[in-house]
Amino acid sequence: MKGKKTKNIVLITLDCVRPDHLGCFGYAGVDTPTINHLAEKGILFEQAICSAPNTWVSHASIFTGCNPLKHGLHTPYDKLGEDTPTIAEILSQNGYYTLGFPAHNLVGKVANFHRGFDVFYEDSLKFDSKIEGMKWCSDWTKVLTIADEQIKRNKHKPLFIWFHYINTHHLPNNSILLPDSYKHRFGSKWQYYDAKISYADKSCVKNIVDILEKNQIRENTVLVIFSDHGEELEKGSCPKHDNSLFEDVLRILLLIVDPANQTNRKVSDLVRSIDILPTILDMLHIPQTNTYIDGESLVPLFICNDAVTKGWAYSENIVKGLLSIRTPTWKLIIHVEKSDENNEIKVRPKRFQLFKVAGSSFSKDMSVGEIPREQVASKVEPILRCLEESLNSKRSIVDNEKDRLCNALKSLGYI
Ligand SMILES: [Zn+2]
Repeated sequence: MKGKKTKNIVLITLDCVRPDHLGCFGYAGVDTPTINHLAEKGILFEQAICSAPNTWVSHASIFTGCNPLKHGLHTPYDKLGEDTPTIAEILSQNGYYTLGFPAHNLVGKVANFHRGFDVFYEDSLKFDSKIEGMKWCSDWTKVLTIADEQIKRNKHKPLFIWFHYINTHHLPNNSILLPDSYKHRFGSKWQYYDAKISYADKSCVKNIVDILEKNQIRENTVLVIFSDHGEELEKGSCPKHDNSLFEDVLRILLLIVDPANQTNRKVSDLVRSIDILPTILDMLHIPQTNTYIDGESLVPLFICNDAVTKGWAYSENIVKGLLSIRTPTWKLIIHVEKSDENNEIKVRPKRFQLFKVAGSSFSKDMSVGEIPREQVASKVEPILRCLEESLNSKRSIVDNEKDRLCNALKSLGYI
């Protein structure tokens, strides 16, 4: 893993960005020239599914390549389990210099997201004194400046950098900074949702690409651009994403661009956010020695369709008592209830709802109806037992941090 030819890896999270609100997916309401251009050089996954419609569980799955059932982070009060190595840890062990720029403390040290990073820039997050416990990275310029300095200083080493851009996220008080020109051009609908995505293309993605070019490492850097979840956009209401497991919140952007292997390819197969980690390891020829990873390398799909065998995705929204199993054409949503029996959490299924989904096309979940318990209960029993085991593992953060996180969640409109 030594020498100049080792590829750098740059992950960019565009928080809350729905793929069907991007030009490269055919949407005309935004202006995203950089992402569109990158999509023409890379591999765009048209049917990518996240593990959960919230920032913390989704990132935990992306970082570990595991479903929540395994990494154990189900709520913002859980920690990443020590027994599930993160991508930063794996790449660090393979000689990478690792930089992390979390944009919110919910994906920070308190939940173990810092593990494996040589430098984790949570301390540079701005603290909003109006909302106790909230740390939100509104100073994106500072992030870019630090990243530029770090890259300049360390570019002789293989680099792994994670950028988390959160200014596309909704806020109850609609206080996200956005230049007036973007507000005027794209309008205020859904809290300036399209305007924020258009601005992210320039302020986040283009600026990162420019920094890589300026430091002459662009040609040797694989870009993985993704969203952690989507967004529910209903008429007249504030955007949100934590109420359901429908397509608008589970479908994510996933774009991989390797300048050494440029292609203009669209993959319509069902893939998952947990596949990102094994894909990167495969691209870097790092053997996947541990069998704990649930995801599968997508590298075979770089060349031919139908090369990945697992045609289903698991997602969950435990706070709302929802689990889902999605195939390219169907989605089963399981409503569960949790109970505490003698200090042990028990999970029981309440309802089973079946929906038709439209593969890589974007459409609403079409309800087929309720499935009788006797038809499906025994089939989902192993998943429920895994969930019970995971929920009962001792990974919660300490109580004195919970109050601070509660306030942070309120600030994001989750509770
Ligand atoms: Zn998020």
